[in-house]
Amino acid sequence: GDDARAPHVVLLSSPGMGHVVPVAELARRLHAEHGFTATVFTYASSDSAAQRAVLASLPPAVGSASLPEVPLDDLVAAGAAIETLLSVEAQRAVPALTALLADIGRASNLVAFVADLFGADTLPAARAAGVPGYLFFPSNLLMLSVMLHLPRLDAEIEGEFRDLREPVRLPGCVAVPGADILGPLQDRSSDAYRWMLHHGERYRDADGILVNTFDAIEPGAAAVLRRQEPWRPPVYPVGPVIRRPDDGEDATGCMEWLDAQPDRSVLFVSFGSGGALPAAQMDELARGLELSGQRFLWVVRSPTDSGADPGANYYDGSKSKDYPLRFLPFGFLERTKEVGLVVPSWAPQVRVLGHRATRAMLTHCGWNSVLESVMHGVPMIVWPLYAEQRENAVMLRHEETKVALRPKVRGLILGEDIAEVVNDMMNGKEGEAARNKVAKLQEAARSGLAPSGISHETLTELVSKWKNT
Ligand code: UDP
Repeated sequence: GDDARAPHVVLLSSPGMGHVVPVAELARRLHAEHGFTATVFTYASSDSAAQRAVLASLPPAVGSASLPEVPLDDLVAAGAAIETLLSVEAQRAVPALTALLADIGRASNLVAFVADLFGADTLPAARAAGVPGYLFFPSNLLMLSVMLHLPRLDAEIEGEFRDLREPVRLPGCVAVPGADILGPLQDRSSDAYRWMLHHGERYRDADGILVNTFDAIEPGAAAVLRRQEPWRPPVYPVGPVIRRPDDGEDATGCMEWLDAQPDRSVLFVSFGSGGALPAAQMDELARGLELSGQRFLWVVRSPTDSGADPGANYYDGSKSKDYPLRFLPFGFLERTKEVGLVVPSWAPQVRVLGHRATRAMLTHCGWNSVLESVMHGVPMIVWPLYAEQRENAVMLRHEETKVALRPKVRGLILGEDIAEVVNDMMNGKEGEAARNKVAKLQEAARSGLAPSGISHETLTELVSKWKNT
C-alpha cells in the first residue's frame, strides 16, 4: 500500500525519559506533518512504565523496538558515570543496529537515520545502509555550541571551568560563568568529561543536527548557528518538540485536586524524571513552601542521601526507592493540607502545566520541562541540579529572555529565601514581568510551529532534502 512507498526514517533514543520523549514526538511529527513512516529504537537498559506509555501512544505508522541487550555489567560494577554508560551502550549496540538498518533498508524506503546526543558513534550504521546520518539534539543551541566548541576549549583552557575568571562566551550565545557550564565538564580528569569531548568531536561527522529549540528563546545563538559553516554540520532548530498530554487515568489524583483550586493560583514543583534533593535541602524546600503560604503541587522523590542509587533514579525516577513522602518534615502534610498537594515520584506534568489553576513552575531546568513550561505560558523559578541545567538557568534569566526567577543560593537554599522567591513569583512585580515575557515566548513558539512558521519551515526544508535523496 501507500505506507510501503512512504519515506521511512529510523530514530534512536538514548536511555532516559528526557531523551525518549522528544525523539518519540519528532517521529510523530514526521509522520503527521510530513508523511513519513518511522521506527523508534531504544536501548535494552532503558525500559520503564512511563517510557512504554510514551512509545505505546505513537500512531501505528511509527513503530518502536528495543535494541538487543549488550553487556554493561563491567561498567556498572566499576561505578561508571551515566555519561559513560550511555556512551558505551551506544558503541556496543552498533553491530546490531547496523544489521537492523540494513534489513529495514531492504524492506522499506529508508531515507535517513537520526540518533541523539549520545549517539554520534552509531552514525556509521547509517553510512553502511547508504543513508545520511543525523543527530537530534534534545537540548538547546547554547549546549550544542558548548559541545561543538569543546575540542577547541579543551585545547585552550587550563585548569577547570569553574576556576575561569571570565565567563565562557561562544558566538551568539549568552555568556556562561565557568561554574555553570555543563555538569560533566566540571571535572576534566573524569571519564564523563572525556566522553563529552569525544562526542563533541564526533558531532562533526553528522550530516546535520536537528535541535529541540526555537529562535525566539535564544535569538543570538539561532542567528549564528543557522549560518552554514564549513567546520560543523548544518544546524536545524525545529522545536519546541514537546510531549502530548497523556490522556490516560491520573492515578496521582493531582488533576482532580487542581480542578478544585482557583485559576492561576498553584506553584508546580518538579525536578524532572530523575531529579532529587539531599535530605537537608528537601527540609528547607518544605519549610519554604509552607512559609510562603502559597498553593503548591510538589512531586516528591526520596532524598539523594537516603541510600537510593542515583543511577537508578536516572533510568526510572518514577520508581523512587522508599516511599518518598516519609522523608518530609514531621507534620508537614497535616499543616499544609489546605493549600498543598504532595505526590510521590511522578505527575502528569504536561497536563499539570496546561491546567488553568497552574500559575508558575519551580523546575530543575531540564530542557523538556523548560519547553513544556514555555509552551503553556508558565513562568519559572529555576533550581538547576545537573547536566546542562545550570546553563539553561543562566539563559532563562538573561536579559534577552527573562522568563525566570531564582532563589538566593548560599550553600543550602534556605526556607526563608525559597518563601521570598515563591512570593515574588506568585504576587510580585518580577513575577509579573516574567509572566509577560513567557507569554511572548509562548506566542513565538506556537507560531513557529504553525504552517509557514520558522521551526516548521526548517523541518520541511530538511525532510524535502531527505525525500529527494
Ligand atoms: N515528567 C513528567 N512527570 C514528572 C517528571 C517528569 O511527566 O513527574 C516528564 C516531563 O514532562 C518531561 C520529562 O519527563 O517531558 C523530563 O524531561 P526534562 O528534560 O525536563 O528533565 P530530565 O528528566 O531529563 O532531567
